[in-house]
Amino acid sequence: MSEVIYRKYRPKLFKEVVGQRPIKVTLQSEISSGQVAHAYLFVGPRGTGKTTLARLFARSLNCLDKKETESEPCNKCQACQNFLNNQTLDVIEIDAASHTGVENVRENIIANAQVPPFNKNGYKIFVIDEVHMLSKSAFNALLKTLEEPPKRVIFILATTEIHKVPETIISRCQRFDFKKIPLADVVKRLTEIIEWEKITIDDKVLTQIARRSEGCLRDAESLLGQIIALSQGQVTDDLISLVLPRNNWLEIDVLVEGLRMHNLPAVLNQINKLVAEGVDIDNLTADLLEYVRQIMLYQIIGADFHLEFDDHFIEAIKKHAANFPLADISRLLNILLSKTQSQQAVIIDQLPLELACVEFLLATATDMVSESNKTNKVTATSATVSKDYELLQKKWSELIAALKPLNSSIAGFVQTAHPLEIQANQVTLGFEFPFHIEQLDKPNIKAEIAKSLSSILGRNITVILKIDENFKTNQQNFKGRSEEGVDDAVDTFGGEVL
Ligand SMILES: [Zn+2]
Repeated sequence: MSEVIYRKYRPKLFKEVVGQRPIKVTLQSEISSGQVAHAYLFVGPRGTGKTTLARLFARSLNCLDKKETESEPCNKCQACQNFLNNQTLDVIEIDAASHTGVENVRENIIANAQVPPFNKNGYKIFVIDEVHMLSKSAFNALLKTLEEPPKRVIFILATTEIHKVPETIISRCQRFDFKKIPLADVVKRLTEIIEWEKITIDDKVLTQIARRSEGCLRDAESLLGQIIALSQGQVTDDLISLVLPRNNWLEIDVLVEGLRMHNLPAVLNQINKLVAEGVDIDNLTADLLEYVRQIMLYQIIGADFHLEFDDHFIEAIKKHAANFPLADISRLLNILLSKTQSQQAVIIDQLPLELACVEFLLATATDMVSESNKTNKVTATSATVSKDYELLQKKWSELIAALKPLNSSIAGFVQTAHPLEIQANQVTLGFEFPFHIEQLDKPNIKAEIAKSLSSILGRNITVILKIDENFKTNQQNFKGRSEEGVDDAVDTFGGEVL
């Protein structure tokens, strides 16, 4: 059934093909102007439309009823019908993965290319899929044909691994680079299919399918097909979790929280718990990478970045983004990539991931402890600063009360902040969320905050608003609770880093 869906809805016209717009436009204009090349090279990830476009291109060129200036095939004439029923003699599809010998190139391609197309005005078209699989001698034989192509013969070479295709071949082809299909386009396509199939499936499930397929439309259609086949009209949560590989952001969030809070035992426990539950380690690593990447993008781009998650996780990601220093995020992603992607054969599946997490926490623990020393210096080394800090701690509610008549939501935002740095004439307030700073960063509001601070500290103060990358720890300090995060990190590493 899943294969059926994929074939049933295979696009019959260029305008039905999802994504790859620049490629479609170029191919269509070549068809309508009659200026086609002898050889094409379709490069790109699997399931992104290479074969679909090769077939469409071939059919359109051989369509008997297509008007000269048009580019879409009619799909009704004898040539189109033969093609759609796999009975055409003018299009030869070869899967190089299963015909790698030079003999096959000679027999299937070179000899056959000498025979003119069945349709005198059409073309004989060879579609060679996974062309990088050809042997060296097969490539040489193919190269000779490409150098002196017989009349009305077109080669379409498709590959997922361009680096394995000889430069001499590449240079003789018109090259098109296929891109992964964007998530929104995949979802749109799946929505069309369920409408045709007259079945109801929640948008969130379609998004889940699309994300799991990583830009490969064929995989997405195939997963959808499995769900439709098994559903018998009723798509239940159980059915979906049966078909869709596990993608548990809740568990990933626990892992990320552990990494952010420098809680190594929690991180290693979580990894091993999930592995014991049968979670595939490659999926787990891929999900972790994706989650941390979203945190990074949200932190950098902010509200303009569209997070494709359920509301619950959007909140979680925003929280991580506000508290996870960018340098640490980038380091985590780098370590995860280098430690987990290069291991070919490991005896313990989760070991590369565990090592990546340990390496990350060791690397950032040093930074974190020195950061907390810095905070201590600000609040403790100078007696005056320490006194100011305590004064603000004691009188913070006065500050809030003074701001309330002005605007109660502004007072609320300041309530969540704490002094990050206190200097002779300037106090820096630390915030968790950029949004709070945006709301407060206006001359009249800052003047009011400064006025209140000045009256508490008994001298003229200007105010600076800043995101505090160690918000939680410093906030706990200020509000008089213990520094859990730092204590954990120091305990975990036995204090050696000090
Ligand atoms: Zn036709």
